[in-house]
Amino acid sequence: MGGAPVAEAVIDLDAYRHNLRTLAKVAAGAEVMAVVKADAYGHGVIQCARAAREAGVAWLGVATLQEALALRAAGDAGRVLTWLAPLGADFATAIEQDVDVTAASADQLGEILSAPSTRRPRVHLKVDTGMSRNGVAGADLDELVRAAAIAHSAGSAEIVGIFSHLACADEPADPSVDRQERAFLEAVDQLRAAGVEPQLRHLANSAATLTRPSAHLDLVRVGIASYGLSPAPAVGSAADFALRPVMTLRSSLALVKQVPAGSGISYGHTYVTDRDTTLGLVPVGYGDGVLRSLSNRADVWTAGGRRPLRGRVCMDQLVVDLADAQARRGDRVVLFGPGEDGEPTAQDWAEAAGTISYEIVTRLGGRITRTHVGD
Ligand SMILES: *Cc1c(COP(=O)(O)O)cnc(C)c1O
Repeated sequence: MGGAPVAEAVIDLDAYRHNLRTLAKVAAGAEVMAVVKADAYGHGVIQCARAAREAGVAWLGVATLQEALALRAAGDAGRVLTWLAPLGADFATAIEQDVDVTAASADQLGEILSAPSTRRPRVHLKVDTGMSRNGVAGADLDELVRAAAIAHSAGSAEIVGIFSHLACADEPADPSVDRQERAFLEAVDQLRAAGVEPQLRHLANSAATLTRPSAHLDLVRVGIASYGLSPAPAVGSAADFALRPVMTLRSSLALVKQVPAGSGISYGHTYVTDRDTTLGLVPVGYGDGVLRSLSNRADVWTAGGRRPLRGRVCMDQLVVDLADAQARRGDRVVLFGPGEDGEPTAQDWAEAAGTISYEIVTRLGGRITRTHVGD
């Protein structure tokens, strides 16, 4: 329907499974949680969840209850943890659907315990060990631990795990990482002292999984690395970590034309050609998640080489300079991919836009067709 898509994100599920198995080996002894929030970082949650289970992953992690329920609706029956719920979240349905939930405060534990569900809730306690984001800290931790211990011994909840999140794991030498790790182990001790032995202590994201074995503990929560992108580009590239980028974003030239020297390109004429040249029009823009901040800063691959973006990225289209390349309307354009054939990577685009690769892959818009291969 509608013929050729204007652009397509090709998702290599073989690469995704390879990355998950690689990370499982790196964290041997710990369980792996594949983090598939935000539509699997833009890669398609249903297909990625299925592939993750095929790769032997015991746990899936998502932010919201809705994301967890979508996994159940798609037939996933394995362990799923959700960690971010606003006041009024439907814990009853999540518990009924066998989803592990998170208590980030004593109040939230109370909401979980009072949810009208026939099952016993399985709860992970979220501790703020220094990121100052989600989770309990300080005196509130005592209160949560006490309430959790009471619920656990009364059998009104199963306290499965305790976890925290690192602020600077992508900078392994940052002293905050040691501090957070110590604070986390103290919180675990506090829980034990209250009579609860958690099965799962978890702290590591992708960066800590790859750079900090002491943080592996019982389970690692891997997101970006599973999609084949480096969580810590200053420490190592995806290839250095034996990861294979999963997403390739491709399109085709919608128009090829000659313009004379002195031609202003796109809104505001932020680029003016300094010679006669050939321009290529790519039918993808910021409405599709190609950040406008990439204007005049990034390359795509087409007609046998890297071609620079010229002028501003528009909502639906962008312009590249083909110089004297032999190019034709319909020629394949690779916006980013694994980089093996010379095309830019999501990491290259992130550096050009002053952001992180997470944002490059997660922001793709609804007009991009996703094609899963290696299924
Ligand atoms: C998103 C998220 C992760 C995964 O982080 P990556 O850096 O992508 O590996 C892990 N844990 C929590 C709590 C998260 O929100």
